[in-house]
Amino acid sequence: MSDAARSRLIPEVDFDAEGKQTGFVRLFHSVHSSAYGFIPIPIVVIKNGAGPTALFVSGNHGDEYEGQVALSNLAKSLDPSQIKGRVIILPMANFPAAMAGRRTSPLDEGNLNRTFPGNPDGTVTQQIAFFIEHVLIPMADVVCDLHSGGSSLMYVPCALIKRVSDPARHAQQVALLRAFGSPLAYVSGGGNGTGTDSTLMGGAERAGKLAVGTELGGSGQVTPAALRIVERGLRNVLVQMGILPRKMRLKGEDTRFLNVGGPDYFVYAPDSGVFEPVVELGDEVRKGQLAGRIHFPETPWASAVEFRFGREGFVLCKRVPGRTSRGDCLFHLGTDATLE
Ligand code: CA
Repeated sequence: MSDAARSRLIPEVDFDAEGKQTGFVRLFHSVHSSAYGFIPIPIVVIKNGAGPTALFVSGNHGDEYEGQVALSNLAKSLDPSQIKGRVIILPMANFPAAMAGRRTSPLDEGNLNRTFPGNPDGTVTQQIAFFIEHVLIPMADVVCDLHSGGSSLMYVPCALIKRVSDPARHAQQVALLRAFGSPLAYVSGGGNGTGTDSTLMGGAERAGKLAVGTELGGSGQVTPAALRIVERGLRNVLVQMGILPRKMRLKGEDTRFLNVGGPDYFVYAPDSGVFEPVVELGDEVRKGQLAGRIHFPETPWASAVEFRFGREGFVLCKRVPGRTSRGDCLFHLGTDATLE
């Protein structure tokens, strides 16, 4: 049996049919309140003739909304007559998590983006990962997985690619990132070479597909600026792939490219308490500069614990909630990158 045939999920759409189809991927889930019911994961397929396929995913983490809004808009606005090829839109990939507005699934606590390549006979989240990895990704030429900071983090909106060892593929991904046209983009380290990459982008890489991701903002909200960046970026990816005609390219911005490297790019809470940041998102910081303090209002006479940046860089991401536990990520930095 092929890997795709091992998936238990049943799409209501025909991926080979022409035109626009909307419906659900059925994930049968027998529970106390619904013995024979299925979880309805929404999907839209837009196809016109032969051509490349783009797979656009959001709601991989359910508390990240910018991509869900952008893909809902795209599902309504994109007409089959405009395109050459196929666009597959999966706006609430981890549907139970997205409906609950949570990073992870309330059904099995599964973090979809740590579950790839999934398991066809596993938990709900594992079954979704398996379906995406073995049914959807193999159909795609390019994969966009739209993330943001979720409930606990806020990013300066940016696009990203994962560094890959094949230079030709790296160059194609850099071209896609330039086409995306976001003001900021970064190249992630591409793992440390050990273990399986359990993210959706890792699944795209395993299949040899082009992949672009985003970190669009976060704090459990949608901003007009982030939405503008992602909607323009998705359209320009479709143009870059030849799915939309060149005349539909939207003028992007000159992208500043950052590198997100090793552990010294990240700042973690040294203690549990209330987090006071002393820098803003988008600031340029120096090595040793004060990053913030952890306060103990339950013992207000106790000294706050100060912590500092371990290297210089651009403040790309910061924690949102004040209440913080030791080990929480409070900041991460980026440094200017050369892409070769
Ligand atoms: Ca995320």
